[in-house]
Amino acid sequence: LLKVAAIAPCAPLIHGVQAASSTIFGAAPFRRVRPSDPSWPDAGQWAHLKESVGGQLLGVQPMFATCGKSKDGAACLDALEGIRNPYWIGDQPAGTQVSGWLDAWTPAPSAYAIKARNAADVAAGVNFARQHRVRLAIKGGAHSYQGTSDAADSLLIWTRAMDEVVLHDAFIAKGCEGHAEPVPAVSAGAGAVWADLYHIVSVEAGHYVQGGSCTSVGVAGLIQSGGFNWFSKRFGTAASGLLEAEVVTADGQVRIVNACNDPDLFWALKGGGGGTFCVITRVTLRTHDLPSFIGGAGGKIKARSDEDFRTLIARFIDFYRAHLFNPHWGNNVNFSPDNTLEISLISQDLTNAQVVEVWSLFVDWVKSSPERFTFASPPGAGAGDPRTLWNATGDNWIHDPRKGAIPYRVWNRSDQDECGAFLHGYESLWLPASLLQRDQRPQLVNALFAASRHKQVHLHLCKGLAGGSDEAREAALQTAMNPAVVSAFTLAIIADGEGPQYPGMPHPPLDLAAARRDARDIDLAAAELRKIVPHPGSYVSESNYFNRSWQRAFWGDHYPRLRAIKKRYDPDGLFFVHHGVGSEEWSADGFERL
Ligand SMILES: Cc1cc2nc3c(=O)[nH]c(=O)nc-3n(C[C@H](O)[C@H](O)[C@H](O)COP(=O)(O)OP(=O)(O)OC[C@H]3O[C@@H](n4cnc5c(N)ncnc54)[C@H](O)[C@@H]3O)c2cc1C
Repeated sequence: LLKVAAIAPCAPLIHGVQAASSTIFGAAPFRRVRPSDPSWPDAGQWAHLKESVGGQLLGVQPMFATCGKSKDGAACLDALEGIRNPYWIGDQPAGTQVSGWLDAWTPAPSAYAIKARNAADVAAGVNFARQHRVRLAIKGGAHSYQGTSDAADSLLIWTRAMDEVVLHDAFIAKGCEGHAEPVPAVSAGAGAVWADLYHIVSVEAGHYVQGGSCTSVGVAGLIQSGGFNWFSKRFGTAASGLLEAEVVTADGQVRIVNACNDPDLFWALKGGGGGTFCVITRVTLRTHDLPSFIGGAGGKIKARSDEDFRTLIARFIDFYRAHLFNPHWGNNVNFSPDNTLEISLISQDLTNAQVVEVWSLFVDWVKSSPERFTFASPPGAGAGDPRTLWNATGDNWIHDPRKGAIPYRVWNRSDQDECGAFLHGYESLWLPASLLQRDQRPQLVNALFAASRHKQVHLHLCKGLAGGSDEAREAALQTAMNPAVVSAFTLAIIADGEGPQYPGMPHPPLDLAAARRDARDIDLAAAELRKIVPHPGSYVSESNYFNRSWQRAFWGDHYPRLRAIKKRYDPDGLFFVHHGVGSEEWSADGFERL
């Protein structure tokens, strides 16, 4: 070919060479543009987009951009203060609730953001990105551990301002009239966070909506993950409660999707992963009666020796299987290298007397061997009025201190360390309930003990639906989540990191060697659990960035169906996220089709 080109002075032959080379080597790969490319949209085209979204097109700067000029300037100090507040972070176009992940991703802002007001603004952004080959990113509550709402040189569709919440006494999805009974429900703009829904649905209206535990998480991101809180064993996943969504697809169409319209797309939105199939602009979720009581039990127990700790783990697993493995109980237990067991349980629909009675069975056993076990923090248990859980009073809630802040946008004191955290590593595994059978419990105990020698192991008991209500399990099987969630009694999470490390932020240098050691310990701990669950499922949004079996781990047998839906609604891959459905067709940054 080169020979022909060298002796060919005339245009037609050169055209011929180009045609031949493209037949032999295939067409040039599809590439999205960056600001440095000649085909990046010009100022006039951006101005036109700005006009079509009512002026809500913003240039985006890194959160600590001003610190380069002056570390003591007001803007830099404001950002340093702000990163302790998840709502401040959420209000920044470049904000990410996680400040990065060692060797995985670093926050890097979009070139522009549309602060969308409605579906029409979103459609304008989608059409612009498609027509100009601009990389698109979508962000709601900014809580992606994987950095999937953050992409350098992209156009960001930012739903933060779309946070209206509306209650319905009797909702029927559009087009489902005659096929479905009306049910109580709540609609929320894609930018709403769970604090908004819990306040309006539970505190004001006395109902319950299934969402996340962390109040600052965005509704659209959580539903597309699946979504759990303490009460998931009773009410199921957040995705299971989805009745309808307003969305904008890659062709720029605004659609109402539900069980009767675009049912495949609707199914994919229920746990098929965020930022992948379309932009959600509004969701409508089923609401329930509030449980009659909400309560909890907890304490921290230290074992004197390794053998005592093994005994403590075994006893707790027996106690869990006998008394807590049912729809009433959720939340976490942690097994730590210092031989402590930290228990933090949340209950619903059990009276104060019932909670205290169950908990005392375990506490009395611990107290009966003071030479082996001591309480590092005192045990406690109780239950009360369910509305008080989210009424934003009490020491456990931190209020947004900014002037004019929405008073019910609070966050839990126990979530403070997550704010701006920098991750060294993260792993999650669904542990099947078969491990709770009497003959398999010794294996489970040994694996938990062995894993806890390397790193703290958290069992998120509410993130596995085995032991839950029939309705919760049945509904989860109608979603796109890995069906492993239904046969698992818990999601085991092993993760660690340190305080904020945002780019440009003044902070002492990262101790890379120590951080990598930490990441390795997480791997070693996870390897111990893999010995008893060799091919574990994993929760897409709380998972290892480096999971090489991500398709199977996140979606199991559902992956081929999800891939087909992706191809149908987004054939050109406009929506791309790391380890999202169909992302294997793209370079890691989502700019080049492979
Ligand atoms: C501190 C913290 C606490 C958490 N707590 C919980 C918990 O209690 N329970 C639980 O189940 N999970 C929890 N998670 C995981 C969380 O549910 C997911 O990370 C979720 O995807 C976050 O949604 P978001 O809107 O806040 O985040 P974003 O980062 O804004 O979005 C997450 C993903 O969804 C996409 N997305 C966002 N909005 C839209 C939209 N409108 N249309 C299409 N795609 C969209 C983004 O592109 C991105 O890929 C937590 C995460 C963190 C960091």
